[in-house]
Amino acid sequence: MYQLNAQDLEIQRRARAFVDELIPHEVEAELNGGALRPEVAAAHLERAIALGLYATNMPSALGGGGYSMLQQVLVQEQVGRATNGLAWVCHTPASWWPAVATPYQVERWLVPTIRGEMHECYAITEELAGSDVDAIVATARRQGDEYVLDGVKWHVTSYNEATYAFFQAKLVGGDHDGEHALFVVDVPSPGVRVVRTPAYSHNIGAHHPIVAFEGVRVPATHLVGTEGGGMSYSHEWFRYERMMVAARCLGAAERLIAEATAFAQERIIQGHPLIEFPSVQTMLADSVTELFAARAPTYEAARGVDEGVDVKLQHAQCSMVKLYASEMAGRVADRAVQIFGGRGYMRENVAERFYRELRVERIWEGTSEIQRVIIADQLSKRGVDKLV
Ligand SMILES: Cc1cc2nc3c(=O)[nH]c(=O)nc-3n(C[C@H](O)[C@H](O)[C@H](O)COP(=O)(O)OP(=O)(O)OC[C@H]3O[C@@H](n4cnc5c(N)ncnc54)[C@H](O)[C@@H]3O)c2cc1C
Repeated sequence: MYQLNAQDLEIQRRARAFVDELIPHEVEAELNGGALRPEVAAAHLERAIALGLYATNMPSALGGGGYSMLQQVLVQEQVGRATNGLAWVCHTPASWWPAVATPYQVERWLVPTIRGEMHECYAITEELAGSDVDAIVATARRQGDEYVLDGVKWHVTSYNEATYAFFQAKLVGGDHDGEHALFVVDVPSPGVRVVRTPAYSHNIGAHHPIVAFEGVRVPATHLVGTEGGGMSYSHEWFRYERMMVAARCLGAAERLIAEATAFAQERIIQGHPLIEFPSVQTMLADSVTELFAARAPTYEAARGVDEGVDVKLQHAQCSMVKLYASEMAGRVADRAVQIFGGRGYMRENVAERFYRELRVERIWEGTSEIQRVIIADQLSKRGVDKLV
């Protein structure tokens, strides 16, 4: 199915087998705030690297997987089958960085990241700047050979595991006054502090603290790309992550449907397997139909990226698959909880965990509303025949 070649299928099988090893650790993670014992987590990272499932999006010349976009989607789809972020260990570093990193940045951060020795986090969102990234008030002031960075960033995912942050700010003064720029900030660094670490709906090892950057001085060599280029890297990252969100939602939906179907076949009510009840059949049939309807365009959009279709079309299609797959997975999780009944409300049940965890897929990397704004904009500029 889906015209996957032998190499694609082998990658898919490898990723699936690895995620099957992680799934038995879900309940332990869930009941421990997302954390596994350090030696177990370290073993998972080592294994992901050994299996070639780490940094699949990085060029092979730098030690990455060099996978096609479709192959990356196949891996991330399997990643989505595990709850509690356990399979995030199949990490994909900043996809846009190799093209703009200086030799210093390649050696200092990028290659160690590809090897799994360093970890990044993204400090872009602020209290009053989420959907509208241009509303950020963080600043970067050039002083001699340094920049001075100030700003308070929200939801900085993985800060607790990171060795450096990408910090987005607006330049003050100079030729690019008011434009965006992105900087690498080692963490910890003088002037960087966690304001607080709020609790979120999911229980995963990566936390999302509010982090203050106060008079943080970084050498000019920490500027990523060019002054004024900050937004373009974020847009490229959004495109990439929207595709990967869609992929992970496919995996989550597949797992939920498989588990709910197995339960419905085994559970006997009034002498009949639950799956014989038309209301349950409807929920399962709708779920698997919607999964099929989400998977085909996600693969197609990934193939389009591999074939180098126009970047605006990629932008619209990444939004479409993210929008549809994230909303589809939310519906599937809701139905799965219903099929499991009271068991589906227990944290030890996969449907309960996904029901909470999948909610954020409609929020981060651009909310569903923002995806619709992007799609409608592209529709009006390009016409329906160019988009689908
Ligand atoms: C768990 C989690 C992890 C995250 N990780 C990171 C991270 O690592 N780094 C980072 O920088 N950020 C991160 N984020 C931030 C995330 O990207 C933002 O939360 C998201 O973009 C939405 O922004 P907001 O929360 O400010 O909501 P707002 O922008 O305030 O939106 C509120 C509501 O208004 C709607 N809305 C806003 N604008 C429009 C519009 N033009 N048209 C129609 N409706 C609109 C939205 O859809 C939403 O329903 C994370 C968020 C979460 C929840």
